[in-house]
Formats: sequence, C-alpha cells, structure tokens
Amino acid sequence: MQISERIMQLSPSATLAMSQKSAELKSAGIDVINMSVGEPDFNTPDHIKEAAKRAIDENFSRYTPVPGYMSLRKAISRKLKEENGLEFAPEQVVVGNGAKQELCNVVLATVNPGDEVIIPVPAWVSYVEMVKLAGGKVVTVHAGVEQNFKITPAQLEAAITPRTRLIMFNSPSNPTGAVYSREELKALAEVLGKHEQVLVLADEIYEHINFLGTELTSIASFPEVADRTVIINGVSKAYAMTGWRIGYMAGPLAVTKAVTKLQGQYTSGASSIAQKAAEAAYEGSQDCVREMCKAFLRRRDLIVKLAAEVPGWGINCPDGAFYLFPKVEKLLGKHTPDGQEIKTSGDYVMYLLNEAHVATVDGDAFCAPGYIRLSYALSDEEITSALGRIREATARLK
Ligand code: PMP
Ligand code: GLU
Repeated sequence: MQISERIMQLSPSATLAMSQKSAELKSAGIDVINMSVGEPDFNTPDHIKEAAKRAIDENFSRYTPVPGYMSLRKAISRKLKEENGLEFAPEQVVVGNGAKQELCNVVLATVNPGDEVIIPVPAWVSYVEMVKLAGGKVVTVHAGVEQNFKITPAQLEAAITPRTRLIMFNSPSNPTGAVYSREELKALAEVLGKHEQVLVLADEIYEHINFLGTELTSIASFPEVADRTVIINGVSKAYAMTGWRIGYMAGPLAVTKAVTKLQGQYTSGASSIAQKAAEAAYEGSQDCVREMCKAFLRRRDLIVKLAAEVPGWGINCPDGAFYLFPKVEKLLGKHTPDGQEIKTSGDYVMYLLNEAHVATVDGDAFCAPGYIRLSYALSDEEITSALGRIREATARLK
C-alpha cells in the first residue's frame, strides 16, 4: 500500500503515543501513574456543561459556519480586548477543532515550501511536524535549563534570514513551563520589528496557568509586531475541556480568510455543541480558571521539592503551564540493575515506565534529547507517589 511521502516523513505524536502505552499497561492491571499527556485532571465546570446540554435541546445540530458561530467569535474578540488589551474584530477570529488545528491551519496557510520557520526549542511535539507538512524548513533556536529555557534577542537575531517566514512562539511553554516577562517579550518584539517578512505565531494556550502573579503579556501587544501576529488559544487548558476540541486563531484578515478557505475544504466548522459550551466558558464567571491555577501552583511547588531529591536531575522552577522538564544527561551511561545501559533519555523514559510504572515523555520529541517531560496535572497523592517511585528507581542505576 502506497503511503504518501508527506505522511511517511511525519513522526507520530510522542505525547499521545506514550499516553496510549500507559493506558494499555493500566488495562493489563499494572498500576501506572501517567505523567505523559498534558491535560488538566479537573472536570469541565458545571455551567459550561449545562450550556452544552441546552444547545442539544435547542437543536444546535446543523452544520456550523466554517469560521465558527459569530456569537462565539464575538465572545473571543471581547475576551482578547478585555483580558489582553488586543483589538481583533470578530471577523479576524477563526474557531476550529482545538488550538492544534488552528496552529496547523496557519502554518499551511502562510508557509511555502522552502520557507524558514523559527522554532525556539524545547518546543511542543507538533510544531516541527506541522512545518514539515507545509514543506517548510525548521530552524531551531536552543535554550536549555541553564538559560531558564528562554531564547535571547541575540539568538533570535542570528536565526532570522530573508527566507524566514514565521516564528512559532509559545509562552507559557510546553514542555518547559517557561514564561517570558514583559521586558523579555519587548526585547524579542524589537528584533522581530526589524524584519517585516516574519509573521509571529503566538501560542498562548497556557496563558491562565501562570504563577508569576502578573497577567500574561501577549507579544501581540507590542506595536513592532502587532499587525503581523497571529494569536492561538482555546478552551482545552484554561477550562479543562481537552475533549471538547475548541480552539481559535486571531490575526490579520488575510490570514483569517486563507485559514477559513482551508478549513472549508478540510473539516468544515467545529462541533455546534462544543462551540456553545466554549461560548459559555468565555462569557461566564472566570473563577474556575483562577481556582485551577491555584491548584497547579500548589502542585508545582510540590513537584519541584520532590524532584530536587531525584539523583542526577537538573531542574529549574517553572513559572507556568503544568510541566517539569528535568535535564537527565548525568544519568546517561549508567546501567540498570539487570545490566542494560541507559544510553539516551528515551532509554531512561522506558526504564521509568517499566521499573517505576511512571509514564513520562522523552525530551527528544521536543527537540531536546537529554531531558524528559513530566506533566503534573495530577493529584498531590499521585505526584508524591510518582516522584517517590522515580527517585527509588533512579537511585538503583549504577
Ligand atoms: N499548543 C500547545 C503548546 C499545547 O501544549 C497544546 C496541547 N494540546 C496545544 C497547542 C493544542 O491544544 P488543543 O488542540 O487541545 O486546543
Ligand atoms: N498538548 C498536550 C501534550 O503535550 C496534549 C497531547 C498532544 O496534543 O500532543 O501532552
């Protein structure tokens, strides 16, 4: 059976694959703690679920407009104004099946084969693959734990060429939890301001999971890049709605139109019921968002404390999202009790899965071999138990 080159060169999603493996072990009766996939463990708030039930009863059951219900696009436009101080008309917003679809739409709609796309790494698993789908050339800019996983303006300047079309920027970051401060963003915006050919794709899906105590500053708020930034966001993380599949892009009208054309031939408008639920999320009380952030902060403090006791790990204190990204290079070259060498961070991840029954993700999938990712969107008890198991299993390496 012929499979296209396009798909043959695509890597499967490592986060989803590891989560699947963990589910399989669980169903075989093994007590696995799943720290692989990144999704809030909370239930969707009741007022949002009620809105979805009402939408079913009120027969919101037909095809939806391709870029989303106008009422939802208006709610998003209002949210961007009130929470972020950004001016995007409802016509500049496209709603789709999760932030993931809108990210991919924007890449496909703006990148020509051979165009360069800058990705600060470590970066979420899907960014590189989306650029590959578009035939673009990935240009990574590395920022390790030593620089708190944040790129510098000089690094950015050095990576930009006349062929640079896009930068995929994510703060708070998956997989590192890094959050750029207002000053740091301003400095990056100033660099980007000098290069008019570069479009900024700002993935702000973790904006509400920010422990700095300040509101998130969007890179779109700087005049240097305001008219060529596309915001990506959605309800998955802020409102614990990963399965509802609603995300959006907001950006220049030309990009909005291109994305709508693509979506119209590809998936059509997103689910009517899920859109009505998302509208309730944006229009209703935001107390649930703050409550969840508080819980994540408590868990962050817990995991950072416990992770400091794991031999061989190099960690920092993440300022947002719900991930810890330890450097595990010091463990490479050690041997398991039955004599297997841990050659890569991937070997270590498999060792932790088989010996400690804790599922994590290899940093390699985030363009950062030598690191691993742990999602701490779990109960305090599970975090404590998982880190205890990891510490013991790691201490057994010789
Ligand atoms: N961007 C980042 C950085 C993410 O971690 C995720 C996680 N799923 C997404 C986008 C996509 O989110 P969703 O498709 O669930 O809206
Ligand atoms: N963003 C989440 C993660 O990184 C969900 C899985 C995915 O879509 O890759 O684990």
